[in-house]
Amino acid sequence: MLIRFWGVRGSIPAPPSSYELRDKIFKALTMALETRLKPWDIPSFINMLPHEVKSFVGGNTPCIEISHGKRILIFDAGSGIRNLGQLFTPSPAKDLLDALENPGVEHRDRHGEADPPRPKLNLDLILTHTHWDHIQGLPFFAPIYNPDTILNIHGHDIQEKKRNLFIQQSDPSLFPLKFEDLPAKIIFHEFPDTGIVLEPFTVDSLALPHPGGSHAFRVKGFGFTVVFATDYEIAGDSADAIAKKEALKDFIANSDVFISDSQYSYTESHSKEGWGHSSALNIVELAVQAGVKSLYLFHHDPNYDDQKLYDILDKASSYARLLFPQSTLGIRLAAEDTVIDLSDDVDDFS
Ligand SMILES: [Zn+2]
Ligand SMILES: [Zn+2]
Repeated sequence: MLIRFWGVRGSIPAPPSSYELRDKIFKALTMALETRLKPWDIPSFINMLPHEVKSFVGGNTPCIEISHGKRILIFDAGSGIRNLGQLFTPSPAKDLLDALENPGVEHRDRHGEADPPRPKLNLDLILTHTHWDHIQGLPFFAPIYNPDTILNIHGHDIQEKKRNLFIQQSDPSLFPLKFEDLPAKIIFHEFPDTGIVLEPFTVDSLALPHPGGSHAFRVKGFGFTVVFATDYEIAGDSADAIAKKEALKDFIANSDVFISDSQYSYTESHSKEGWGHSSALNIVELAVQAGVKSLYLFHHDPNYDDQKLYDILDKASSYARLLFPQSTLGIRLAAEDTVIDLSDDVDDFS
């Protein structure tokens, strides 16, 4: 059971700046000066650099893959879904490169199976809600241009939201291709209160407090529980706020991985009350109380650079250690291209 982050940013795509890149190069070179680095050691030196130096947290809007073998669940269609779609796109150049790099070896796809004939794609896209940052990547998701694709789109009030998803996005004044002209077979499914079974996974949901509404999803499979909850804010101590917090706490109880909205720093969350997002410190408390094993901070604010995000992570980790010294909660930033393999030890936060 794999989890992969394709888009982790909230609100609007936020590509890293050249300034950020230079800062990372500066840190890497400073670390290199502390070693007697030889040219042939450079690849392994880069590999051992900390994530915040050798990678970006990522600027694409929400898209998460949870998969096992050919079963691929996609949560949200932010701009990150474009890169996911490239995995399924036949690419003569890529095939040629594969053939040159591995002469005599039959090309294999990402799941280790022989490529030609290309199998029909059967994908499930599950939507938390249809705010722009969660659907804007869909017109650029390559499989919808492939007649061999069946794309099942699951969501709450999906027939109504279908309009936001495709019909408005494909209005000729906004996008050159019409929804009716898409070659893929696209089927809309209302997400039932009882949840759905997409073997080998079960998925159920919980309504979240967010302007316009949003839903958390809980995926169970192979004895693991993963919860994805983005775009929500639990503020205040009214009876309603407490009831919503308790409902979420029950929903995430004892989960192995909890991927949660934590858009704002604690300070900024006060000035943005009512905007529908959370701060890491509030989420840490919730996760500890619910017995979560691993928390991934998600839906990063587009105005925060990596340094600010790692600062938020440090503060959240210190807060957890200080207030809940007995807690074993692991906390990380959700970062693009990170793959979590739940067959490994999910508590390994080395
Ligand atoms: Zn959002
Ligand atoms: Zn939203």
